[in-house]
Amino acid sequence: MSISIEFPDGSKKPFDDGVNVLDVAKSISTSLGKKAIAGKFNGELVDLDRPLKQDGKLAILTNQDADALVVLNDTAAFILAAVLKQTYPKMHFGEGHSTADGFFYDTDNADGQVTVNDLSTLKEKMMQLIKANGEIKRVLVSKDTLLKEFAGDPYKESLINAQAGVEVPAFQLGDFIDFGYRALLKKAGEAKVFDLLSVAGAYWQGKSSNPMLQRIYGTAFYKQADLDADLKRRSEIKERDHRTLGRELDLFFVDPKVGAGLPYWMPNGATIRRTIERYIIDREVAAGYEHVYTPVLANLDLYKQSGHWDHYRDDMFPPMDMGDGEMLELRPMNCPSHIQIYQHHLRSYRELPIRIAELGMMHRYEKSGALSGLQRVREMTLNDGHTFVRPDQIQDEFKNILKLMMSVYDDFDITDYTFRLSYRDPQNTEKYFDDDEMWNKSQAMLKGAMDDLGLDYYEAEGEAAFYGPKLDVQTKTALGNDETLSTIQLDFMMPEKFHLVYTGEDGEEHRPVMIHRGVISTMERFIAYLTEIYKGAFPTWLAPTQVDIIPVNLDLHVKYAETIQKQLLAEGIRVKIDKRNEKMGYKIREAQTQKIPYTLVVGDQEVEDATVSVRPYSADKPEKEDLNVFLDSVVAEVHNYSRT
Ligand code: ATP
Ligand code: ZN
Repeated sequence: MSISIEFPDGSKKPFDDGVNVLDVAKSISTSLGKKAIAGKFNGELVDLDRPLKQDGKLAILTNQDADALVVLNDTAAFILAAVLKQTYPKMHFGEGHSTADGFFYDTDNADGQVTVNDLSTLKEKMMQLIKANGEIKRVLVSKDTLLKEFAGDPYKESLINAQAGVEVPAFQLGDFIDFGYRALLKKAGEAKVFDLLSVAGAYWQGKSSNPMLQRIYGTAFYKQADLDADLKRRSEIKERDHRTLGRELDLFFVDPKVGAGLPYWMPNGATIRRTIERYIIDREVAAGYEHVYTPVLANLDLYKQSGHWDHYRDDMFPPMDMGDGEMLELRPMNCPSHIQIYQHHLRSYRELPIRIAELGMMHRYEKSGALSGLQRVREMTLNDGHTFVRPDQIQDEFKNILKLMMSVYDDFDITDYTFRLSYRDPQNTEKYFDDDEMWNKSQAMLKGAMDDLGLDYYEAEGEAAFYGPKLDVQTKTALGNDETLSTIQLDFMMPEKFHLVYTGEDGEEHRPVMIHRGVISTMERFIAYLTEIYKGAFPTWLAPTQVDIIPVNLDLHVKYAETIQKQLLAEGIRVKIDKRNEKMGYKIREAQTQKIPYTLVVGDQEVEDATVSVRPYSADKPEKEDLNVFLDSVVAEVHNYSRT
């Protein structure tokens, strides 16, 4: 019997039934036989030993193909597991394989979990195994054999039992056997360019009610230069990652033991947040907003009336049954609360636009796998605002909001963003508030305003809110993901649902339009974003400590330091004196690590001529400055929202 194999160039060749991928590669050319890493048969990754038993399309993969990296990283995960099993005989194993970003293996060890300190030894052992260059064979084994192989390991047992069929395709290197891979390299020696990166907790099967396993991460490449470039990229991301910086600068923490996605703001992070909150309230009050406080809890009926309960329930925390018929709900959005404020008085056309704003705390039940530092949390405080306008005021108000937004971005030095006009999905209109005319009119209105202002934007169908179209401001995180920072959303639906009215010039009742807007997003996401764009070096006005004073001699110069501190404090500058019994060089270095905008060193000379020796963050050397000159310049910098 023979089968017909078709190659990517369209040519076809007959082969014996059961021919393996490697032999097919060799039949094309000796050099392809040598370079072959795996195959792709009818779209499926297959290893070189795989017998082909039917007609089909086959591509031979070499290390130039993207899929070859999958094979390599799967092989590295396999070799890591082989070494772990040898090193820790009692270890249990969860899943392990390649990812879009390297490979990992989940482990659980009763005699002590693997930590980051074990990685270099493990790497060494992997290297030895790789140097021995053993053959990795594909074998078909019964489930019983595998169950014996992983006897007593509850995770592997469950993975084995979940396999289809009696025989499981597995791979073997020496005594070690493992399964769950589509294709591995034939020779262990080909996986020599790799690194082990980190260890982090990961729940078995991603469920927080399951035991926490230790996930060991690594990455592998065919060329050393590619690995070097990847490690450099990772270290740059890490340098910017707000979770790392949040720890180093002591800004915040999240502890799943006390609540996943529920951040604790340490004094440094809280100072940044408070400064931003005061800033944005001041800017909004100046722009005609009235700030309010409203409760995070409300009767569930409120969210039934608003439509959140119908359209947004999956993202909401379950209601609290108070036992007397009352159901209370944690709000996922602040809009219904601001509607209550609007409705509390009769409104006339002369008062509109009415702009209600709040730093509104809200709760959303985000999936545990999506949670990330401050970037995606379950309790958040949104710089929220709702303006209630007459239909003829929509475009002007939209422009007002946009101008406020861009001016605020300017103060934060945010320049890298794009505008996205988000429309409903025309193919899937039942997902949205049902009013074709409203959608068409309001989408055109937003587009018109953007064109009037001469701003560039792109249009995205299917990204609108369920109640109306919106403008989103899109930025990129340090990890390269797209993220929405600000949004302006038109809403014709909520005013209907709540029967909102104002008295018109004609003395009749009219329906206002509602505009939802968040200028700087949630405090959580905004500060995560700022930490990344500033690499933790916050501009002077935001820095938790703005000035650090280091007396050269603790006996002689503290008094002078205290005089300076007093003067700076009187101007509202956040200043501290480093009175610790440490070397001066150490203190200066630490002030730099903490990215404090100004370090002042004061000694005999400075006391004598009323000067300070100023070292701005990241400057090589200090400069002498008159105390009053320094003071004026820091105060000016804070008022101008600028940096050192
Ligand atoms: P996303 O698509 O990011 O989930 P969304 O479209 O649900 O956001 P909105 O309902 O418009 O967002 O919420 C207003 C703003 O709140 C968003 O622009 C976003 O910046 C921020 N935000 C939303 N969800 C979270 C969260 N889980 N953690 C922190 N900030 C969030
Ligand atoms: Zn809203």
